[in-house]
This record gives sequence, C-alpha cells and structure tokens, in this order.
Amino acid sequence: MIVTPKIRGFICTTAHPEGCYENVRSQIEYVKSQPKLKIPDTPEKVLVIGASMGYGLASRIAAAYSFNAATIGVIFDKKGDGKRTGTAGWYNTAAFEKIAHTDGIYAKTINGDAFSDKIKEKTISLIKKDSGKVDAVIYSLAAPRRTGSIGEVYTSCLKTIGEEYTNKTVDINSRTVYNVTIPPATDEEIAHTVKVMGGEDWKEWIDRLLKADAITENAVTIAYSYIGPEITHPMYTNGTIGQAKNHLVKTAKEITGEPGGIKAFVSVNKALVTQSSSAIPVVPLYISILFKVMKEKGIHEGCIEQMHRLFAEKLFPPVLDESGLIRLDDLEMRQDVQSRVLEIWNTVNNDNLEEYADAAGYLNDFEELFGFGIKGVDYGKDTAVDGGIESIDG
Ligand code: NAD
Repeated sequence: MIVTPKIRGFICTTAHPEGCYENVRSQIEYVKSQPKLKIPDTPEKVLVIGASMGYGLASRIAAAYSFNAATIGVIFDKKGDGKRTGTAGWYNTAAFEKIAHTDGIYAKTINGDAFSDKIKEKTISLIKKDSGKVDAVIYSLAAPRRTGSIGEVYTSCLKTIGEEYTNKTVDINSRTVYNVTIPPATDEEIAHTVKVMGGEDWKEWIDRLLKADAITENAVTIAYSYIGPEITHPMYTNGTIGQAKNHLVKTAKEITGEPGGIKAFVSVNKALVTQSSSAIPVVPLYISILFKVMKEKGIHEGCIEQMHRLFAEKLFPPVLDESGLIRLDDLEMRQDVQSRVLEIWNTVNNDNLEEYADAAGYLNDFEELFGFGIKGVDYGKDTAVDGGIESIDG
C-alpha cells in the first residue's frame, strides 16, 4: 500500500511503518551516541505504561539503551489489516522490539487498555513469569478517556476553570493565527479529567504490583507533568489538566509514604509536539514560538533528549526542586527563553508567523509522529502495513 498522511485537525488517521521504524531507529542512535551512563544501581527491569508514543516511547528507548534495561511496554494500539494502516504506536513498538532483540535486549509488549483489570493482570503475570519483579515503573499515559471496572466511562477535557478564557492559537495546517475561547469546565468535567489523567490509576498499578510481589523494595516510579509559563496557565496549570497533574503530585507523595519502600516522582517535562499536546488549545502556538527561540539558542530538545537527560542527570539520584519535583523543563523556563517567547507572543499574527514562530518545525514534528516527512524513507514505494510486533500479548 502507498501510505500518505491523512490529517484531520490534530489527529493523523494513517501511519507509515518504515517512517515509524526510522523514527525509533534514530532515537536509539541518539542514545547510543551519548556517553554510557556511569551510574551505579540503575534499574534492570522497567515497566513502561503508555510505551508506544511520545515521552513513554522515549523513556523505554532511553532505559533500554542508556542502562541496558529489560523493558515491558504496555500499549493501546491497532495492527494494520492490509486495507488500513496500523497506529503509529504499533509500528513504533514493532520497530523498538525488532532493534532491541537484534541488540540482545529483552523487550516484550502487552497491548490493551492499561486502565483495565485484565491488562494489569496480564502484565503482572508476564513480569512474574519472565523476571519475577520490576525495579522501575514509568507511567506515561495520556488518554482521552478511561473505562472503569463496571463499564462506566470518564472523559478528560482540556478546559479552563472558573471563567472562559480567550487567547491566540494557531491552526498548524493552514498556518492561521486566530483567537480561541475556551469555556470553563463543569465540576463533573473536572472530576472526570482527574479520574483519567490524575494519579489514581498510577497508584492502582503500584498497589497491584506490590500485592503480587512483582516489584522490588525501593523500586522507583515516575510520572510526567507540565507547568509552563503564564500564557499557558489558564489552559494548562490552572485548567482541568492542571487539577489532574496536582493529583498526580499528591499521589506520588502517597505512594512514597506507603510501606513497600517505593519512591515515586513527578518529572515536569518540556512542552513538545506529541499526539496529546497538539490537542490543547493555545499550546501549539506557544510551542511553535518556543521551538524557534530554543533552536536559535541551541538548546532545543525532543522527547528522546529529554528522557536521556532524565536518566543521565536527574533521576539517579533524584534532583528535586523546592516542591519535590524533577525539573526537565529547566531550559524551557529559563528567563531569557521565556522573556523572548512573551515578546513574540505579544506581536505574533498571521502576517509574521513564519518569521517569529517555527510553525513549519511544529508541522514537521507532528507528521513525524506518524512516520511521515522522514529523510531516507521512500513514500512513493509500496509498503506492507500488516506487520506484527515480535513479542506481543493482546
Ligand atoms: P502521547 O500521546 O505521545 O503518548 C501517550 C501514550 O499513552 C501513547 O503511547 C498511547 O498509546 C498511550 N495510551 C493512551 N491511552 C492508553 C490506554 N488506555 N492504555 C494503554 N496505553 C494508552 O503523550 P505524551 O505527550 O507523551 O504524554 C505522556 C505524559 O507526559 C502525559 O502525562 C503528559 O501529560 C506528559 N507531558 C507531556 C508533555 C508534552 O508537551 N507532550 C509535556 C510534559 C508532560
């Protein structure tokens, strides 16, 4: 099949197997090109929940290639069927496993809803069967909804709290800057967003692993958050998703405080183009400006650079700010970066977008998420879309 991008708003409904392979391969090459970590006691067996895209995928790659960790990834993806392509996460995972296995690194994958009892049980059985216990758990889910144990559905939303909020945003496809008004969330929408994106499910995973004796004493677990500058606060930190992230931080303290010796951390990461971040109003324009500024200053990072730096400099041992958070957003939040971003924010419009913002870079990163626009891939060539993942269950 000849596979082309089919972008609808902030979703691409197709994915290119070879493009995704190249994407994963180049992330692996990046980690391999870095000096080997000389850190004692890095984890050996890592469970990555939400392992097929964005920060979760990069965490899996960085764990496998910077300290040789065996990884089990939990993903929620679809295989291609000859007529339709699979999801990008499917192809990413297929690529990761193929390369890891060739390099002699253990990697297995469970495919299904990470919120469900069934997938938790399957994952724990695999851990018990293959390695006994994991010593690190990376929780990197970004989900639009969660189905509870009796079939009830919670839907997360990206809204403000209290008052509606109007600011600029960009339609990346048409490169149009326009004003968007985000309505305030209802109490139920806030509660649902916390249910989906807060720490409840993270803690459930840890509790179950502990109960099954499938996690080592003193294991480490980490989840990801975002804070960002004031222009994004009404949408993010002070919005529904911010409430969920507060809950994540509270949960980290609860997990750490419980018997079992597990140390839980929240890392505040850089704003990057991923499937989830592109759905947040206002944020794509902020990211486009941020990328321009950080690229000009030579300090731009993608998911893999962030996750490598997390393991190389920030987690073993944990480097925490006064609120107990790991700050991988340190370069993004630098005063010189933020003051330039704000200056541009106040002047950017349709006429000067190309000059002041890296909208092209944003679109390119977005397409790359689905394996498009990658150097060396022949997009005119027929490609098999129904390939499998070597060690998959589900
Ligand atoms: P992403 O959309 O790239 O990846 C999310 C992953 O979760 C995917 O692999 C997806 O398949 C998986 N997933 C979703 N629902 C699932 C389910 N029910 N079961 C199993 N897997 C499921 O998102 P991301 O941007 O990498 O976000 C990961 C975390 O990082 C989130 O907590 C997010 O808030 C945080 N974060 C993101 C940014 C950013 O700018 N992208 C910045 C800071 C923090």
